[in-house]
Amino acid sequence: MRENFTRHVSCISLGDMANCYLCGTRFRSADFQLRRKVRTGGSEHVKFGRDRAVSARTSYGFRIVCGRCGRKIDEAKRQELLIENWKLIMWVLLLLALAAARWSNLASMTGN
Ligand SMILES: [Zn+2]
Repeated sequence: MRENFTRHVSCISLGDMANCYLCGTRFRSADFQLRRKVRTGGSEHVKFGRDRAVSARTSYGFRIVCGRCGRKIDEAKRQELLIENWKLIMWVLLLLALAAARWSNLASMTGN
């Protein structure tokens, strides 16, 4: 009976508090709430056939998430940024390699 009562009370007191948008954790205090840009929806359309096309539409919005999910989002964003940087570095290296190959071709041609 007592347990039922406390559960009932906690339900009421937390009734108007938000849940984490990602994991659904009910916030115990405002301190745990974070605002992060999260994926709120999106659709991916893949058309196969003669004109194969992929169209993706993703919508993002600021939602309240718990500390754990906020950290996860931050970490994912950091890694995404790292990957983007790596892609850029690889592109630069590729261009340099192409330029070097071209230059050595020219050099060998003019040498002969
Ligand atoms: Zn969460």
